[in-house]
Amino acid sequence: MALLEVEDLRVSFDTPDGVVRAVRGLSFTLAAGSTLGLVGESGSGKSVAVQTITRLTRGADVEGSVRLDGVDLLTASEEELREVRGARIGMIFQDPLSSLHPYHRIGWQIEEIIRAHEDVGRAEARTRAADLLGLVGIPRPETRVDDYPHQFSGGMRQRVMIAMAMALSPEVLIADEPTTALDVTVQAQVLDVMRRLQEEFGTAIIMVTHDLGVIAELADDVVVMYAGAAMERAPRRELFYRYHHPYTEGLLTSLPLRGEVSGRLRPIPGSPPSLIAVPPGCPFAPRCRYAFERCSITPPLAGVLADPRHQSACWLPADRPRQQSAEEAA
Ligand code: SF4
Ligand code: MG
Repeated sequence: MALLEVEDLRVSFDTPDGVVRAVRGLSFTLAAGSTLGLVGESGSGKSVAVQTITRLTRGADVEGSVRLDGVDLLTASEEELREVRGARIGMIFQDPLSSLHPYHRIGWQIEEIIRAHEDVGRAEARTRAADLLGLVGIPRPETRVDDYPHQFSGGMRQRVMIAMAMALSPEVLIADEPTTALDVTVQAQVLDVMRRLQEEFGTAIIMVTHDLGVIAELADDVVVMYAGAAMERAPRRELFYRYHHPYTEGLLTSLPLRGEVSGRLRPIPGSPPSLIAVPPGCPFAPRCRYAFERCSITPPLAGVLADPRHQSACWLPADRPRQQSAEEAA
């Protein structure tokens, strides 16, 4: 059985302009110890989807189910959810400063997390806080526990966030664009820390990103999201080498080639539909160079290729002609 099962998740918000349907029927599973990459342009609903897993999307209208070890989190009580958040599902976000308290020492903030869930004394919690900082590669952790967030660099703060998210050894770590605000070198270091922790603790990771480069580094399986729905779902190698959906193709061919200047980038023309009034049919149709009559009917996410784990929401035949991706060209 999968550790986490998301089934037909639908999340909408009432706004003065109308109902925003941010997630429109998303399903995926996460196996223990594996990494799932959730990729798509900004506004594709990936952040809303993962925030709904621990019900952080307050005020939203939510349908479907999110089962952790078979228990539905969407119908769980606030008390049960408090146990799940942090202890079983840890989260890290793009901007560590928004989650760190500026006026408290780093060590104290980690201790608070531990002590909120476990019956341990200050001294033991402090030792564990220092151990955690060491684990994520902060030098001299036993003295850095007494520093404040502003005394850490951006990359170091993101490591602190990972340490906090791992403080209670969760089974699932949800990382929403954790490296987006960092420069490339630091980005690689942070991904490396996550990979090491996963190996050591067997944590399953949901990596939310707009960056297929991050997916290529880390993910076992990939879900490509567009306009609140999954367009394609496949094991990583399948997705990179035998992608089917034209949106995936667009993302892949807009990747920079290794060592090339950005002049060669071919971004997907056009922009995603408004989530207030998503037109019927394939949501990608207005931007799709292959669109034909049948695309006015919504294609289901279905197995079209030899590998049954590979599914695409597109009417094109399995052996459709494809553009060469940056990965293949490299
Ligand atoms: Fe393009 Fe049609 Fe496939 Fe949608 S269903 S991605 S419009 S070919
Ligand atoms: Mg986001």
